[in-house]
Amino acid sequence: MKKIYLDYMATTPVDPRVKTAMAPYFYEKFGNPGSLHSFGQETMAAVDFSREIIAKAIGADFHEVIFTGSATEANNLALRGVTRLAQKFLPVRIIVSSIEHESILETAKDLEQEGIEVIYLPVDKKGFVDLEKLKKSLNKKTILVSVIYANNEIGVIQPIMEILKIINEFKSERKSSSLYPLFHTDAVQSFQFLDCDVSKLGVDLMTLSAHKIYGPKGIGALYSRGTRCQALGARNEKNKLLGPNAYGLAPITTGGGQEFGLRSGTENVPAIVGFAKATELAMDLRESERKRISKLASYFWRKLKKIYPEVELNPNRNLQTTKYLPNILNISFPGHSAEDLLIKFDMAGIAVSAGSACSVRSARPSHVLQALDLPTERIKSSIRFSFGKFTTKKDVSESVKRIGRILNR
Ligand code: PLP
Repeated sequence: MKKIYLDYMATTPVDPRVKTAMAPYFYEKFGNPGSLHSFGQETMAAVDFSREIIAKAIGADFHEVIFTGSATEANNLALRGVTRLAQKFLPVRIIVSSIEHESILETAKDLEQEGIEVIYLPVDKKGFVDLEKLKKSLNKKTILVSVIYANNEIGVIQPIMEILKIINEFKSERKSSSLYPLFHTDAVQSFQFLDCDVSKLGVDLMTLSAHKIYGPKGIGALYSRGTRCQALGARNEKNKLLGPNAYGLAPITTGGGQEFGLRSGTENVPAIVGFAKATELAMDLRESERKRISKLASYFWRKLKKIYPEVELNPNRNLQTTKYLPNILNISFPGHSAEDLLIKFDMAGIAVSAGSACSVRSARPSHVLQALDLPTERIKSSIRFSFGKFTTKKDVSESVKRIGRILNR
């Protein structure tokens, strides 16, 4: 029986071209980029070249891309790094949406424990953040707004430009030259399908991850606007730490000062090279894959609906809308438990998940579906299907057939 993988939001297989690009950096080109000799220079050049590729792909400067050990770490660096620096100068508030990935939400909760004020923005039934609440929540203490670009459980794409407009209006009303609040977005799931040019989005910070775009696991990046000035010490000419008028990010990992002093630790050279290759491929395929996969998803939905008309989409929507990622269908199977279905699907060779990979293990009901205010029964019967580069039409029809057998249809 052929196994069918429909869990591309959890992770993606490494593209063979990525693997080929990475291969020399495990053995032949193994130097520490921090070493001054030729071995080190060779790998430092590879890191620089990779950084340049990723920076270009998101319209950033070379110095504004900080490699991290994962997107989780990049999200931690954004929230903790900004908070840590700002806290030195003023009492702080941060605002996050209630449908962020756990790496934002759990970090925000942790900061809350440390006395930081956190506002959780609700979403409407379709998954869009409450912009009125955002307007009301911005105050002079607000140093950071973090809103996920496209959600990993339901695929809803947030109106980043509208959020930016609200933040900018707030800043201009205050008539202050402070650059706070900074605006961060987690673009881990969006990069595959959406333009993530930071100058168009207007964000100050943005998180990326390689393993969602056919790159290796264990490598992420944080874009941080104007990192160079912080890299040079976040201090003014009189050797005083820059105040709230500077873009502020303090390191959360200290040591040898790699990544412009913002993320110490020897660079994971093969993974960084793989990340850059995956980025190039994703950029090339973005448009064509978006179209191909949205057709596949619609095909899957039509076929599934035919054999099991009771299924419901979370949130309910017209599949033609471009306000959701094209590759994700979060589907409720009334009368069934998701846990039960996951096991049955797996036994039938179909790999899917219920919620994000992290929350599944703990069997907690999805916080994202809860935020949509769906009935508990519906949340408990929901499965996430996500399609990717290696999903074929045949895989899709075969999986519907197998699902039909499991559900006795
Ligand atoms: N942010 C989002 C939206 C994600 O989907 C994920 C992965 O599930 C992460 C962050 C964390 O990524 P990583 O596995 O690189 O830590």
